[in-house]
Parts: sequence; C-alpha cells; structure tokens
Amino acid sequence: MKNYQVQCPYCGSQAILRSANKVFGAKNREPNRFLYVCSNWPTCDSYVMAHLEDLRPMGTMANGALRHKRILAHKALQAYRKASHTDKWASYIWLEGKMGLDQQRTHIGMFSEEQCDRVITLCRKEAAISKRNRMRGAS
Ligand SMILES: [Zn+2]
Repeated sequence: MKNYQVQCPYCGSQAILRSANKVFGAKNREPNRFLYVCSNWPTCDSYVMAHLEDLRPMGTMANGALRHKRILAHKALQAYRKASHTDKWASYIWLEGKMGLDQQRTHIGMFSEEQCDRVITLCRKEAAISKRNRMRGAS
C-alpha cells in the first residue's frame, strides 16, 4: 500500500496516520477508519480522513472551523439536490461550472472556508429558484 505524505497546512508538521478510535475515542462509529492527524494534535486540531480502500487522504487537512464549513457545504449541496431533483453526479457538474473548477478540484473535502461559503450561497440561491419554479408550475 502506498504511503501518503501529508503535511499540516496550519503548522507545517507532518501528519501521522492514526486509527479513528485514537482520535474520536468512544464517539467513533467507524472502527476501521484511519485519519491523517497533525503530529501536534490535539494542540493543532487538524486532520483529514483516509479512504478505507487505499488510505488515500479524502481531501486536505482541516481544523475545526473548516471541518464545520465543509459539513455545512455538503448539507447545502444535498438540499440543492433535493430541491432541484438533481442526482449527485449532475450536482457536481453544476458545481464545477459555478465554481469555475475542473472535476479534479471540485471536492468539498479540498475546499477552503471561502469556497465552502460560496457553495452554501450558490446552493441556497439555486434551491430557492427551484422551489419557486415548482410552485409556479403547480398553480
Ligand atoms: Zn498542525
């Protein structure tokens, strides 16, 4: 298995591959999950999940604030999908166009806080338009 070198973008330290059990303790719901955790953790609260199959990092390392933003961005994208009856694949194509990014870079797990804010704004706007159109169509 390839060994991924991951560096913490906040303090520049090397990340260490650790079991999610070590990081989340009793709260962990995925016993087989691994994370890249900053070697200064928990002083530096920065980590990223690894894919189960090949331990590839699932995005870039994030601190608490960025992790929270990414969760909100994922939720906003889900709400957009629901409101516009779009599937996951089509919603990412839509997002690529709106963000002006290619497929490789259109992953919320790679986004900065600013990019997450943009996703949230775009999705809310689009979901509102879809809702309005549907109501108009129904009357
Ligand atoms: Zn760090």
